[in-house]
Amino acid sequence: MSGAYLRFRGVRGSHAVPAASHMGVGGNTSCVELRADDHLLICDAGTGIIPLGEDLMGDGTPREALVVVTHYHWDHICGLPFFQPAFDPAWRLCFFGPGRDADEIRRRLSDQMRAPYFPVQTEHWTAATRYLDPNDGGLRHGPFRIHYDHVHHPGATYGYRIEAAGKTIVYVSDNECGFLSRSIEDRVHEFPDAEHDHLRRIESEERARELALLQGADVLIHDAQYTPDQYRQKRGWGHSCFVDTVNLAIDGGVKALYLYHHDPSATDGALQGIQDEALAVIADRRSPLVCHLAREGLTVDLAG
Ligand SMILES: [Zn+2]
Ligand SMILES: [Zn+2]
Repeated sequence: MSGAYLRFRGVRGSHAVPAASHMGVGGNTSCVELRADDHLLICDAGTGIIPLGEDLMGDGTPREALVVVTHYHWDHICGLPFFQPAFDPAWRLCFFGPGRDADEIRRRLSDQMRAPYFPVQTEHWTAATRYLDPNDGGLRHGPFRIHYDHVHHPGATYGYRIEAAGKTIVYVSDNECGFLSRSIEDRVHEFPDAEHDHLRRIESEERARELALLQGADVLIHDAQYTPDQYRQKRGWGHSCFVDTVNLAIDGGVKALYLYHHDPSATDGALQGIQDEALAVIADRRSPLVCHLAREGLTVDLAG
């Protein structure tokens, strides 16, 4: 496909799942390919980046890409040691993620390949590589304008708001939405009445910030790892219950939501159930939000 599009290369959270029961949705971990005007932007470098790299070696597109990672948990970087373009001198690769400066980003991505964990280091990459310094004004890559902000997940984690081809795509792979609001709600009675207004103000500022990142997005790709039951057991682990994700997307006036970062335990059947329940929430709220399951190989046309 030419023009502007995004393609899901890995949609699983936590770890890859090469099981027949999961193949309808896909077993590779986080990676999304975005193309516009022959420029390539890659969000996250989970195992989904491995087949993407193999495809890139075979096609005739420009040998240049920007790879942005949300954070450095294994499921978002563990495909990088097997990303073939990095071992091809014809390629130019830029990398970005959370970090004080370009060198810290380089170390965070490279350390996973140090001995004794891997036989080949990033020093053996033959592609021209560059690591980008943080920039308050965001990043540019060809037609892509990329802004980022912190989201709620253990360690520094970014969500990305990407403008290209007249569309806004927001990529938030790992985020526990509503965490602070829920914590305040639970504990507000422990504080004197005089402080309640202050707590409510913090709560509404946090919600406003959460919504600002995704407000009015054409496409939102967002963590929806847990069912309500799972979330009750794993609150504070940094992932969202899909019901909260759907409500966040509705409140933010998002046009199309892709439920993402699926739990490794979720079979194709379980995920179909999650999508059905998500659609019921949307119908209950009489929202025009369109909601899909992110599936490996699914391509979304951004030009239309
Ligand atoms: Zn993750
Ligand atoms: Zn994570």
